[in-house]
Amino acid sequence: MGYDPETLRQWDREHVWHPFTQMQGFREETPLIISRGEGIYLYDLQGNRYLDGVSSLWANLHGHRRRELDRALLAQLEQVAHSTLLGIAHPPAILLARRLVSLAPAGLNKVFFSDNGSTAVEVALKVAFQFWRNRGRGRKQRFLKLSGAYHGDTLGAVSVGGIPLFHEIYQPLLFDTLEAPAPYCYRCGHRENCREQCLIRLEELVAAHCQELAAVIVEPVMQGAAGMIAQPPGYLAKVREVTRRYDVLLIADEVAVGFGRTGKMFACEHEGVSPDLLCLAKGITGGYLPLAATLATDGVYQAFLGEYEEFKTFFHGHTYSGNPLGAAVGLASLDIFAQDRVIEGLAAKIDLLAGRLAAMAEHPHVGDIRQRGLMVGLELVADKGSREPFPLKRRTGHRVILAARQLGAILRPLGDVIVLLPPLCITPEELGTLCDITIAAIDRGAAGA
Ligand SMILES: *Cc1c(COP(=O)(O)O)cnc(C)c1O
Repeated sequence: MGYDPETLRQWDREHVWHPFTQMQGFREETPLIISRGEGIYLYDLQGNRYLDGVSSLWANLHGHRRRELDRALLAQLEQVAHSTLLGIAHPPAILLARRLVSLAPAGLNKVFFSDNGSTAVEVALKVAFQFWRNRGRGRKQRFLKLSGAYHGDTLGAVSVGGIPLFHEIYQPLLFDTLEAPAPYCYRCGHRENCREQCLIRLEELVAAHCQELAAVIVEPVMQGAAGMIAQPPGYLAKVREVTRRYDVLLIADEVAVGFGRTGKMFACEHEGVSPDLLCLAKGITGGYLPLAATLATDGVYQAFLGEYEEFKTFFHGHTYSGNPLGAAVGLASLDIFAQDRVIEGLAAKIDLLAGRLAAMAEHPHVGDIRQRGLMVGLELVADKGSREPFPLKRRTGHRVILAARQLGAILRPLGDVIVLLPPLCITPEELGTLCDITIAAIDRGAAGA
């Protein structure tokens, strides 16, 4: 775009307020400005190449500038860039809804589109709340979440969040929720039977409050922003069993784990679970455009049917809900899944990654490694024996990702948890390179500690 890098850096410092970023320190660093992508690589203004180790914030699946996706976008542009779903329809949304239903866990037959992960969650929360009102059971209006939960940054999503650093300050603005302990086995205190202890507590809470609980919301299989907290096998299935038994809806937030990330199309499949509401975003367009969907069962949907003047309508919608460009690319992304047999091809990469991670576990500052598919958290610690974390101020995770950048990979940590979340299309060789860079960066970032 015709501007020299130094001018752009200066204007970035002057005008852009970056998300989740302390701007004071950031302005003193040299910002990385990405101008181009190709496959799993991103290029900065000088042409330096970086492996996109976190899929451009957990969204990219099939690589940047993927021919089929580019073409689908251009083809839709030749039809119409945007037309609303409020009261009228367009082909890409209709076709994508049908495809999502055919792939999603059984029973999820209705698709409500929006435009990002937070809105997908807001929709699920409001639908769950109104579902019980519409059925004359308005006392059921509370939500149960897990500690460490992350469901987005709008206020409803923050209310069901469980990360004090992000969420606590907004407490006066939030609705009241119940919180069950997440099975964070590395730090939960009762390591021997973490899963059982957590499930007992969850069931106690659901049983005690079932008359007032609208829904339980979980990130199935892996809690992402909490630091890649992997749930032990059997955990999710039990949550489904408990919510069924006590007549409470289950909201599965698959914004991060959906679309192949954990090795299956949807994470709920690992446990044979069908939730009542399913939230999708991030990977839904292969990482191209903002789009989201909240899937619901027929039972949930039917509670909203009635005469107009009964006011059972779901009065909710966003200007760009189900945008045709996003929906067209979403369809093309699902075509790639089918044509390239993406899910089938993942198993070998996941195994290879597991092998490399096992070797990385030997590192003196790698305390715990949590992997589900191509979704990994490496928790760095100052002392492996005592599991003592690094001092906060040291910003070890941040040091590591700066070192990785010098070595040719873009990573983004969650505190001192190093996240590896490459595009699904990464090759075994490239996965090896990502692991090589990561361990070298950990060496450098933890050096002198
Ligand atoms: C990223 C994320 C969200 C929020 O999505 P946005 O598109 O950033 O609003 C919600 N839930 C989970 C599990 C996420 O990882």
